[in-house]
Amino acid sequence: MSTEVAEYWEDDSEGKAGIILSGGERIEADLVVAADGIRSPARKYVLGYSDKPKPSGYAVYRAWFDAAEQGVDKDPMTSYMCKDGDVFHGWIGQDVHMLTSSSHGGKTISWVITHKDDTELQDIWSFPGKMEDVLEVVKGWDPRCAAMLSKAPSCIDWKLIVHDPLPTWISKSARVILIGDAAHPFLPTSVQGASQAIEDGVTLAVVLQLAGKGQVTLAVKAWENLRYQRVRKSQLMGEAVRDKWHRVKPGDRGEDLDMPRPEWLFGFDAEAHAYSSYEDTANEIAQNGYRLPTLPPS
Ligand SMILES: Cc1cc2nc3c(=O)[nH]c(=O)nc-3n(C[C@H](O)[C@H](O)[C@H](O)COP(=O)(O)OP(=O)(O)OC[C@H]3O[C@@H](n4cnc5c(N)ncnc54)[C@H](O)[C@@H]3O)c2cc1C
Repeated sequence: MSTEVAEYWEDDSEGKAGIILSGGERIEADLVVAADGIRSPARKYVLGYSDKPKPSGYAVYRAWFDAAEQGVDKDPMTSYMCKDGDVFHGWIGQDVHMLTSSSHGGKTISWVITHKDDTELQDIWSFPGKMEDVLEVVKGWDPRCAAMLSKAPSCIDWKLIVHDPLPTWISKSARVILIGDAAHPFLPTSVQGASQAIEDGVTLAVVLQLAGKGQVTLAVKAWENLRYQRVRKSQLMGEAVRDKWHRVKPGDRGEDLDMPRPEWLFGFDAEAHAYSSYEDTANEIAQNGYRLPTLPPS
């Protein structure tokens, strides 16, 4: 823990992989699972090239703070966020949306405004936000928006970046793999980044258990196959929600604007799916060879 991974390696002939820590220590394993996030250094190792992120055209202003410390519970314009436990409210404007929620029984507040951002992508994606810019976005809106935004002691302006779907999440020898945001970063409107990372982990645990130590590389090839299209579908759902909210017309309202909760996404048991699908998927790969994953039909 608290130690940086400096290098990844794998040795096909020995059937081993490993990492070298920044202090020089070399660690060997059957499989390296690189869960190193959206800026994943392991991604370059796995792909063999640097996959450059692209600006999404949007950024988020974001803040989270203690409700009582900032007087949210005392102001009649904002106290509705604290009175009845955790609540969630959203406002949609022209190419912009604002979400605010309370957690810990109404004691902690967070808000986020996704807004247009055409600035060029730099190495740093997160900056201190200027409150006057934030308030300008909601000028003329429901006054509860400005009231809540003004309560934040500070906020950040976070560029939303996108990656094209990676052609693969597994290295040449299938001994180093990318998982979670390293493999598939999500837009916030998916609300799925952490969920899909957890599903990745659960699925991987099952396939490794079923395959056993002798078939680690077959297991990870099957794992990628079991996960790839589902992850892409949930990424696309996030883009569709953003587009739906940002292209809203005056008068649009009702259930059509709700965050979708499709059964294929929310009613899915990743563990059960892995147990029931592993054998067929692994047999198919063992018989016909590994093929790069394909995108879901559009
Ligand atoms: C503002 C915001 C709101 C979000 N809201 C939601 C939500 O409501 N629901 C949801 O499902 N998801 C949400 N997400 C997405 C979710 O947080 C991510 O998808 C999730 O954290 C990804 O987990 P991960 O483990 O893949 O990567 P991360 O959580 O990014 O973890 C990667 C870790 O790897 C470490 N690391 C990187 N490089 C190295 C190295 N060389 N050596 C050692 N360690 C290294 C990093 O320090 C970090 O600790 C949100 C994200 C953001 C930014």
